[in-house]
Amino acid sequence: MERPLILVSPHTETEGTEFPDAAISLSFRYSDAVIGSGGLPMVLPCTTDRDTIAEAISHAGGVLLSGGEDVTPSRYGGVFESEVHKTVVEAVAGRDAFELALIEETLSQGKPVLAICRGIQILNVALGGTLLGDIRLQHPGALDHNRQDERFQPVHDVQVEPGSSLATLSGVQPLRVNSTHHQAIARVAACLRVVARSPDGIIEGLEWGDPGSCPVPFLIAVQYHPERLWDRHPPHHRLFQAFIAACRKRSRLAAPVQA
Ligand code: MN
Repeated sequence: MERPLILVSPHTETEGTEFPDAAISLSFRYSDAVIGSGGLPMVLPCTTDRDTIAEAISHAGGVLLSGGEDVTPSRYGGVFESEVHKTVVEAVAGRDAFELALIEETLSQGKPVLAICRGIQILNVALGGTLLGDIRLQHPGALDHNRQDERFQPVHDVQVEPGSSLATLSGVQPLRVNSTHHQAIARVAACLRVVARSPDGIIEGLEWGDPGSCPVPFLIAVQYHPERLWDRHPPHHRLFQAFIAACRKRSRLAAPVQA
């Protein structure tokens, strides 16, 4: 059986290692998780050319939005005091514009979406939501969510909303997750709903608000990094497997060949 093609959005940098040009890169963790869950990963170029994005998606089973640096605050009307603003590290080389176009086109073509870390944030922004500039400065009493020292290990619980897709496929409560983010969802986009929170109230998962009106057959966004956990923690492997199963049904390769 042919594997469904999974398009992955890459990290961007203003200077590549080989040439002093804007460049892309992607942690092997994402591609390994897709391969290890039955998908065929392909890294997208960072382009805002709408025809290119649309054509790539038309060939694909689904889209994985990867982690990375912060969304530019002006994209969601974020105006922060200087202490907060100083913590914001914006993604470079047009990544915001590329991913906003990618999200719009993916939803319009009805392809499954899995969004991770920065992915949940740009998805929320794309649909009209906002972000906290910095959890530590703006959410007193919050856990330390920026545990780079333990990025491959679960460090906090997440309560998952019973009945949500994430709860159903994970099959455990609470979910144990890693945490390497300094920002979080602030106002949830009107069409989305919260399906997971850490004990301090930080939003860790979003799905479509009314599943009956969701434009895509699968949409789960998480603030943690399942691609760094899936190989040792079955609930996180099941997230990738469920995503890729949904992608297989939407893959062009799954369509019968026309005579
Ligand atoms: Mn967290």
